[in-house]
Amino acid sequence: MKVYINGKYYDENDAKVSVFDHGFMYGDGIFEGIRLYDKNVFKLPKHIDRLFRSARAIMLDLPWSKQEIMDAVCDACRTNGLTNGYIRLIVSRGKGKLGLSPFSCSDPQLIIIADQIQLYPQELYDNGLKAVTVPTRRNSHAALPPMVKSLNYLNNILAKIEAQKLGYQECLLLNNEGYVAECSGDNVFIVFENTLITPPVSCGSLGGMTRQTVLELAEKLGIKLVEKPITRFDVWTADECFLTGTAAKLIPLVELDARKIGTGKPGEITKRLTAAFNEVAPLEGVKI
Ligand code: PMP
Repeated sequence: MKVYINGKYYDENDAKVSVFDHGFMYGDGIFEGIRLYDKNVFKLPKHIDRLFRSARAIMLDLPWSKQEIMDAVCDACRTNGLTNGYIRLIVSRGKGKLGLSPFSCSDPQLIIIADQIQLYPQELYDNGLKAVTVPTRRNSHAALPPMVKSLNYLNNILAKIEAQKLGYQECLLLNNEGYVAECSGDNVFIVFENTLITPPVSCGSLGGMTRQTVLELAEKLGIKLVEKPITRFDVWTADECFLTGTAAKLIPLVELDARKIGTGKPGEITKRLTAAFNEVAPLEGVKI
């Protein structure tokens, strides 16, 4: 695999950034996770728009145009001979002095890793995931806004550790008010009495691309849809639940906090939306 760093390609073992890069020292930077389906980069312009919003939020001036970054992403996929894959697009603040100030950094690094991915085994797509609500709360908007896809994922990592140490693959994070925010790296949907419900991003989640696609698909399929705050009670008593994310795609959640959700098996609306997503995803992209 060849890794793209600022316009050049490096072998995996030679792809390096400085230990003085504030991305490494402080988690000061941003990223995107993007899918390549059948040589189409899924929703690439939307991912780049989100990257620029993250950059604006952390006052990181990107010295590349949106088009330059999109061209680099496509080039990295071609260079690695990919037809399907996962692209990790990273922008770190760059090399700087010791100390938090980002203003000593002048050379942001644009890194593109384009590789294969299989986040979960097929068995979990067929039978569903089990999750637990963890004590770690989702970052508050007043601290590090969850809409920033930053290089500091410790909030999500602490939650993931707590779940895994308890023997679960996934965790549910609540916000400071006790409402459902999201999972460690995925948005959450429930189905109750044939209505699809998902918390608004103001409850503390990233504005997921997969989430947005599911909202659009639900509308097309005539599935009733509501964005409203939900509680653990709503998940425990839902008929169906599933998670969405670029890496995971759509995956059923069949148990939360030792309570079976619905029948304890992936539900019908989940299956319909999954099939619809798998059908449209390879068609909605930028050709490499
Ligand atoms: N929430 C978080 C915290 C994430 O990191 C991600 C991306 N893995 C998502 C939600 C899902 O967003 P997307 O569908 O854009 O991948």
